[in-house]
Amino acid sequence: MPATKVRSKSHFKTVQTIDLKYCPVTFTQYESTRTGMRCVVVDQKGPKVNGYFALATEIHDDSGAPHTLEHLCFMGSKSYRYKGLLDKLATRAFSSTNAWTATDHTAYTLETAGWDGFAQILPVYLEHLIVPTLTDAGCYTEVHHIDGSGEDSGVVYSEMQGVQNQSGELMDLQARRLLFPEGIGFRYETGGMMEHLRVLTTQRIRDFHKEMYQPKNMCLVLTGEVDHADLLNILDDFEETIIDDVPTLNAPFKRPWVESTPIPALTKTIVERCEFPEEDESMGEVMAGFLGPDVHDQIACAALGVLLSYLCGSSISVMENTLVEREQLCSSASYSTDTRPNLVIWFVLSSVETEKLAEVEERLFKLLKDTAANPLDMPYMHDCINRWRRQIKLRCENAGDFFADPIIEDHLYGPRDGSELREFADIKELDTIQEWTDQQWRDFMRKWMSDAHHVSILGVPSKAMSKKITDDEKARVQAQQEKLGEEGLKELAEKLQQAKADNDKPIPDSLLEQFPVPDTESVHFISTITARSGAAKSGKQKLDNSIQQIIDKDEGDSSVFLHFEHIPSNFVRIKILLGTNALPVELKPLLSLYLMNFFTTPVMEDGQRIEFERLVLDLERETVGYGIDLERSNAEMLYIAFETEPDSYEKIIRRIRTLLFDAIHDPIRLQASLTKILVDIPSEKRSGSSMLGAVEAMLSFDQTSSGRACSTLAKSLYLKRTRKLLKDEPDRVIEQFTKLCESLHRPENLRIRVAGNIESLHNPVSAWKALTSSLDLSKPLEPLIDRKEKLTDYARTPGNAAYIIPLSSIDSSYARIACKGIDSFSHPHLAALIVAQAALDSVEGPLWVAVRGNGLAYGTNCGYRLSTGLVSFSISRSPDIYKAFMAAKEQVEGYASGTLNFDKFALEGAVSEIVLNMANEQPTMAAAAATSFTNQVVLGIEKDWSHQMLAKVRDVTPEQIREAMTKYMVPLFNPKSANLLVTCAQIMTEKLEENLKGAGFTSVQVKALADFEDDYGLEVPGGDDAEGDDEEDDEDDSEGDDDSEDGETPGSSEGSG
Ligand SMILES: [Zn+2]
Repeated sequence: MPATKVRSKSHFKTVQTIDLKYCPVTFTQYESTRTGMRCVVVDQKGPKVNGYFALATEIHDDSGAPHTLEHLCFMGSKSYRYKGLLDKLATRAFSSTNAWTATDHTAYTLETAGWDGFAQILPVYLEHLIVPTLTDAGCYTEVHHIDGSGEDSGVVYSEMQGVQNQSGELMDLQARRLLFPEGIGFRYETGGMMEHLRVLTTQRIRDFHKEMYQPKNMCLVLTGEVDHADLLNILDDFEETIIDDVPTLNAPFKRPWVESTPIPALTKTIVERCEFPEEDESMGEVMAGFLGPDVHDQIACAALGVLLSYLCGSSISVMENTLVEREQLCSSASYSTDTRPNLVIWFVLSSVETEKLAEVEERLFKLLKDTAANPLDMPYMHDCINRWRRQIKLRCENAGDFFADPIIEDHLYGPRDGSELREFADIKELDTIQEWTDQQWRDFMRKWMSDAHHVSILGVPSKAMSKKITDDEKARVQAQQEKLGEEGLKELAEKLQQAKADNDKPIPDSLLEQFPVPDTESVHFISTITARSGAAKSGKQKLDNSIQQIIDKDEGDSSVFLHFEHIPSNFVRIKILLGTNALPVELKPLLSLYLMNFFTTPVMEDGQRIEFERLVLDLERETVGYGIDLERSNAEMLYIAFETEPDSYEKIIRRIRTLLFDAIHDPIRLQASLTKILVDIPSEKRSGSSMLGAVEAMLSFDQTSSGRACSTLAKSLYLKRTRKLLKDEPDRVIEQFTKLCESLHRPENLRIRVAGNIESLHNPVSAWKALTSSLDLSKPLEPLIDRKEKLTDYARTPGNAAYIIPLSSIDSSYARIACKGIDSFSHPHLAALIVAQAALDSVEGPLWVAVRGNGLAYGTNCGYRLSTGLVSFSISRSPDIYKAFMAAKEQVEGYASGTLNFDKFALEGAVSEIVLNMANEQPTMAAAAATSFTNQVVLGIEKDWSHQMLAKVRDVTPEQIREAMTKYMVPLFNPKSANLLVTCAQIMTEKLEENLKGAGFTSVQVKALADFEDDYGLEVPGGDDAEGDDEEDDEDDSEGDDDSEDGETPGSSEGSG
């Protein structure tokens, strides 16, 4: 740490230093004796420094003042009266900013690579919060206005328009209105309801700011490698500049929440319906809420956390096991808690058949009552406590960020003297509840849940409501337009123009120049030590380090592929990569089922059948976490991962052996897994951005690609038919599933990574005999799969292809364009392309300003993928894809040709963004180990490849950038060299098609999602119609929605006959 000295006359006193007993983390709490501003620093090694600047905010209306204020704070401050300055500075200092408005607080975030950048932005940021400009012009454009066409607009207004009528929002708000009476702040929509935002005044926001944004109501939480002395000097200097703008320390101030009316207890149980707009009326949701224990009661809060994970934490816990796995009444059962003076407990059951909502809600409460009426499974309760303890330790190790929420909550509800923060030092409360008897647990459960009054909301999808909202809104806008008349509209257009001009004053270069770009040396990346064993050594340079020596000593004749990453950690992370190339094409879509089923299957152990619940129980005991999925860095592979403690290393290896070689393929379990996958498909198909990805996968890759075979459009028909087959001919499905497992589970197909403190492992290499004994290890390691071999002509030679896919579920549009790019890590143009994309797409950069800034889309994204050799450009949530596309085209072509020029700030900003991205990739020790493995094993590049690239990136010249743009980005906007995919609201289709044709996309085609589905040749006797008949009375049948979308079952109406 640099040796900065704290000035002797600092106004910040150290309230306390807290060393956590269960992990190597220290909190230091400071408080200003001058303003009362508070600050907690969580020391942690790594490249990232994160800041959370939180203010307790309480309001008793739905005006949206808290949320609008959050936006306006970014529009300029006392000494920096420029919109966007904060973000411009941040993007030069390896930083990014963000903010959120919760019901009880507003938090602003600053994440930075390295302390130097953070220190530079901090005082500027704080000034924006304490003395923002809050101008009328800013409020007009950011919050709400009526534009020249008579439509309501504004950044916050549009944001709330997008969420106000979503099922989750509507249900949550209705539940909170029932839980909290008038006058209790928790019942209000702090984001702002649209009808209130339309009448919100700047003065109301200013008043709210004055009341709430006082230094004494603010707490700064910093995590990472923080220079404490430098921090205190900065804060002292900052206070000096605002001391005359804020109320004095002794001025009367009512602490939000703490000094407000307490929340009254619920006096009765209420069950209400809540309609939400939705075209597909088949599935709804159940939500239940309770008022829980006092937030200051540490023991009760800990007990509640453990009890919730006992009830609802995994597939073997009571709620999930009964409602999801066994009775299949919903696709998932989940819980959450809100920290309030009394904790609030929530349960959500998702994807419940609409007709059964009331019945399922009753079932939930009967289940809770039954559970509390009978002895609990105390050994499992203790498992939950132990697991909770291990998870806390793991999360502390992974990121200091883990503490941001509890520290903010302490600021909101805890005593000012820091005495409750001190209780973080240990987790003694877990020792206390460890001693609780069955009776104590059941009394606790009855008190807060099964016998407690509660509020239940049945979320009912409504097509009629969907229509009514659209019609009412149309009528309202029309009336508004008529009332304003041509003259009125013209005035409004001018007013908006004026406000924009006031906001968009250019930032003088001289101001930006006052902030030099920090040195990249100030970013301290985490380094790991690599060691290799067996097949992992082949073709690689021999390593000479202390860890390699440990490995060599234990290696013996082991040939299994083992890659070690040594990091200081109390946990070991094992990841096994498996190739999928040997899997026959016609079985590829079964991979989704394999992934879903892998950890919830019965197995044979010592000649005995062990049910899946027992397996999961053991896994929970032995690990802190486990998972399986397709590998992100190469979707032709899958990974199986475990996080555990060094003592359980060998146990986990034996467990892996059981899972790979002794699983029982049970039709009942496979059926349950299939149902879980199929229930979620309708909602996957409702997402504009996911469907863009799914269609792209279907078009770009051939059938041998596993990434493609696991996409929604490959699995929907195939797995539906598989479910039918599983009922009629289970043996056939089991035989195929067995074939699939056998093709994957071969020693020559495994690449294993072990990351952790390798010195703490007794037999890092020889322990793996538990997996490999009696297996045939003579075959050579199979090569990695090159995704390029699986590309179709569509992706190999992009150009002259354009598809519009209308979706009834979205009211906006999404696009992805791709053209030929770069396909290797060593390509000489790569560094220039990376800088070009970062410069174009950065926050407040050319594309941001041209597209997002003009309301043409929520965001754009430039990308390149070396594994496919394609360059891409995406536009998300756009009201008009064509306009967004044309605006982006103009920018890219302008910068490529040199008619537009990047200033030096833009290029510095681009490099800064690349540095931040690198830090984001490996913020923690575990992530650094993961990156090192992926680089060396999957991508075949050096472990510090990104550092080498950073050096190249800094040397890129403007000329090279223009060249890269001309070669790889301009072709994106030429119909002859680009492929274009769009998902959009139905109503947009016709005009878009016309516009795109006008722009040269002569081959544009309008297609349905179903046109891209692929059944991989799987057929069922009688076809899908027969399945419809057969499953008519099936409880978990979800065909209704599928059919309406794919339109493939004209005979489905017969099903009801
Ligand atoms: Zn917002």
